[in-house]
Amino acid sequence: MFSYGHKEPYIEQNKKLRHSSNYRAMYFEHNPGLKNKFYFCPYCGKVMWNKDKITIDHIYSVRYVQVRPNLRKRFSELDYGVNSISNLTSCCKRCNSRKGSKGGLWIIRGKYGKYFMSLVRLLMFIGLIAVFILLILQIINYGGVLTWLQQLQ
Ligand SMILES: [Zn+2]
Repeated sequence: MFSYGHKEPYIEQNKKLRHSSNYRAMYFEHNPGLKNKFYFCPYCGKVMWNKDKITIDHIYSVRYVQVRPNLRKRFSELDYGVNSISNLTSCCKRCNSRKGSKGGLWIIRGKYGKYFMSLVRLLMFIGLIAVFILLILQIINYGGVLTWLQQLQ
């Protein structure tokens, strides 16, 4: 697997620590998307449905892993190395290029962003429903109805 006498850095010799040719196809195969169509960017929450515009991001970027011995070891032990499904996420082009091979918070966002963004979307949805109900009550003059009920007593 490793050949030290080669011109290329030895880390390039380990297939598990390189981009595979099929990680994109593998990701889509394992993640049909919401309603077989919708994908989310975990970094900004963008909803995407045009597969051509969806990039597949390595959460721990290949470069990031290659220069860290402990990560190299950890990913070498996985069947698909850095191209393991758990290390892949759909991502918008903008965030993918902004992320590059950064680590830290980007990795946390890559891992948990989809859950966090779902929560944010859910809360926004509940908020919208609440506003909608208030508007409806306003329109049907709920306050007036209440006053009328109170006067009846
Ligand atoms: Zn994004």
